[in-house]
Amino acid sequence: MRIAVVGSGYVGLVTGACFADLGHDVVLVDNDDQKLAALENGTIPIHERFLPELIARHRGKRIRFTGDLQSAAHECDTIFIAVGTPPTDHGEADLSYVESVAREISSAVGSYKVVVEKSTVPVYTSQWIRTVIIRNGAHPSSFDIASNPEFLREGSAVTDFLYPDRIVVGVESERCAGVLREIYAPLTSGEYYSHRDAIPRPDRAQVPPRLIVTSTRSAELIKHASNAFLAMKISFINAVASICESVGANVQQVCEGIGADSRIGPRFLNPGIGYGGSCFPKDLMAFRSVAKECGYDFRLLEEVIRINEDQRHRFLKKVRGVLWTLRGKRLGVLGLAFKGGTDDIRESPAVLLVQELLHEGCRICVYDPAAMARAKEVLGAGVEYSSGPYEAASGADALLILTEWEEFAALDLDRMRKALKYPIVLDGRNLYDPATMTAHGLSYYSVGRPAALTEDVQAEVSPGKRETA
Ligand code: NAD
Repeated sequence: MRIAVVGSGYVGLVTGACFADLGHDVVLVDNDDQKLAALENGTIPIHERFLPELIARHRGKRIRFTGDLQSAAHECDTIFIAVGTPPTDHGEADLSYVESVAREISSAVGSYKVVVEKSTVPVYTSQWIRTVIIRNGAHPSSFDIASNPEFLREGSAVTDFLYPDRIVVGVESERCAGVLREIYAPLTSGEYYSHRDAIPRPDRAQVPPRLIVTSTRSAELIKHASNAFLAMKISFINAVASICESVGANVQQVCEGIGADSRIGPRFLNPGIGYGGSCFPKDLMAFRSVAKECGYDFRLLEEVIRINEDQRHRFLKKVRGVLWTLRGKRLGVLGLAFKGGTDDIRESPAVLLVQELLHEGCRICVYDPAAMARAKEVLGAGVEYSSGPYEAASGADALLILTEWEEFAALDLDRMRKALKYPIVLDGRNLYDPATMTAHGLSYYSVGRPAALTEDVQAEVSPGKRETA
């Protein structure tokens, strides 16, 4: 099929590259000339596993890039809208980018087309897109609007797209459902997975995936409700972690016990410094606004957000509890991205913590495998940027682990101990077994687990003091 994907960001690029890998002809549209020029030259502007391979495989064949939205809309049967929906000052989703795309494609809607919302949008957006397209001259029977929310996670976006838990398609007509079924048929039939050069299947994936057809409003709600539920799971376990810290229990053991219940499951029960990224924070606020508009006071969401923010403050307090005064202290920081596997720092709790520590007067040396360039735009010359984890730790009063990159879970601990001025590690992502850390001479403070202190530090502390993290 001929597909236009409007917006070549994290979602648009991955969607376009994966559709090409499914055999469709894809035109990727963006209004950022710099981004387009980079893409034309074969530079991939985001860090995402398998994306460079897919773009290289199909660029100039099944994938083209353009800034000309109207022409792309003219020549394609299906137009996916994957532009940003950032929060307004009031926390609602700013839908002006979506509206602008709808307006621009109206004149291209002559023969039957399907316009698909891929961006995360509040309920009723599909109705508004329809209204805008009709107001701008398209005949009501010449197009349909579908909602096809995207559930990919940055860091594993390509495999999430190609091996999804489910594909949700919200439609108002069988004709429109047929188009979406055809687009995803290589996945739902299982045909894609038999290709020799298919992107490898991740461990947990069930194939073929299920395609769930709903109304457009239900599909819009599925996306907001899914993100709100996942954020709630994170805040829930973070609240439990705080109780564990107070009573000297171990949240890891608690999670094992809770997660073994098949009604709950073990995933997303990872305590830490809170969620971030471009989705959860904004989608929760948008969903809260949607609920308010409908007359429902969704206070549960407010509490999820409050716990999330509190989690970061608790970690800062922990740093203070371990180092006493902060002014002038030198800290090595591992991780700036909002999660491992991505260069995205939008709403990253790691960046927010670095800013708060700078405010406290700390001197900070950071390292992130992929997010340094983006972080420089935000943190500027206020921090030192190092070439690796041991360089970041060199001469530091303590090491802080703030993003769960795989390479941070596999450090050479002896080398790390030697690099640090004091053998202290504060881990906001629970990447290590506490006993392993003390065995390597490191005092280790994590989230929701008792602190693991070296013998020297135990001797430093009078009985009863600093017994938990
Ligand atoms: P992004 O900011 O990375 O990309 C958006 C792109 O749209 C940019 O390249 C921008 O230049 C382009 N754009 C904006 N207006 C345009 C226009 N009028 N014409 C052409 N291009 C235009 O955003 P993203 O992270 O890809 O998110 C896009 C949407 O997908 C959002 O609604 C987001 O909530 C949703 N989503 C994101 C993720 C994620 O993990 N990033 C996951 C699921 C859903």
